[in-house]
Amino acid sequence: MSRLPEEEHPNKAFGWAARGTSGVLSPFKFSRRAAGEKDVAFKVLYCGICHTDLHNAKNEWGKTLYPLVPGHEIVGEVTEVGSKVEKFKVGDKVGVGCMVGSCHSCDSCTNNLENYCSKLIATYGGKYYDGTVTYGGFSDSMVVDEHFIIRIPHNLPLDAAAPLLCAGITVYSPLRFYGLDKPDLHIGVVGLGGLGHLAVKFAKAMGAKITVISTSINKKKAALENLGADSFFVSRDQDQLQAASGTLDGIIDTVSAQHPLLPLLGLLKTHGKLVLVGAPEKPLELPAFPLLQGRKIIGGSLIGGIRETQEMIDYAAKQSIKPEIEIIPIDYVNTAMERLLKADVKYRFVIDIGNMLKPTS
Ligand SMILES: [Zn+2]
Ligand SMILES: [Zn+2]
Repeated sequence: MSRLPEEEHPNKAFGWAARGTSGVLSPFKFSRRAAGEKDVAFKVLYCGICHTDLHNAKNEWGKTLYPLVPGHEIVGEVTEVGSKVEKFKVGDKVGVGCMVGSCHSCDSCTNNLENYCSKLIATYGGKYYDGTVTYGGFSDSMVVDEHFIIRIPHNLPLDAAAPLLCAGITVYSPLRFYGLDKPDLHIGVVGLGGLGHLAVKFAKAMGAKITVISTSINKKKAALENLGADSFFVSRDQDQLQAASGTLDGIIDTVSAQHPLLPLLGLLKTHGKLVLVGAPEKPLELPAFPLLQGRKIIGGSLIGGIRETQEMIDYAAKQSIKPEIEIIPIDYVNTAMERLLKADVKYRFVIDIGNMLKPTS
């Protein structure tokens, strides 16, 4: 018989967990392993809320292990380091994103692409090497192998740093990999949520001209005035689609709802690239002819490796790129999840764990 989550490991931990497909979170006592020689233990200060948390809490992808403690945009302060930890010391400000383990020997791992390792261990809801379930950052503490720890630069506010660890790297990595990071390119960003607003900020810092394409005219003002996009149009506006035809070098498509690709392909120049970073549940329809005409490319991208995540966060600090966030206490988390479902957030919820998470007796 498996032991209770509370008794599995020596260190007491406390968080909020979903217990079933309602996805409703409630207080949860569990435990963390003692810091091993290569482990960094840290007190969680902030954790962002990602769409993935919502999908997993409700078991929409069918692989949730309950109780589930979500959270993979985690920032905190180091409280203990193992004897062989080289890069971190007590008091350092650190972060953890979507993964806490990988095989370290496959092609992906040896090329600093742990995110594409087939044995990747997810920060929450995964099985660790020892067979125990991983729990995420909606909790008071973390214990993670130093390889998967990111250093938070001094000039980046800790609360704003949190969403960079998933949303930030998710849009930064494809901009770099697909060569959409050169000055004076014209980049389209489809969808203006947690991912999209960061895609605008990163692409702008890289020197691109930016067009935001959204289903909602309500986002126009924010896109142009607050985020600094150069133009904006609603995705169903045929006149504007026509007017913008063949103008974009690349598109970062952050939409995870079902949507047509054909209009987006029409916006690309010859050799233009459409990169999907959202994951609609059902297959998208892909017409071949618009791809052939202009030798266009459709690609995908999933978060980023640890080295690139560090590079991204250092770049964000240098360029003063900060996500727009709404700070919430943990007992607001269920309301926040409902609002997230309705896209009613500008643009990321971040839970103030350090000041507001208190164990219930
Ligand atoms: Zn995420
Ligand atoms: Zn691997």
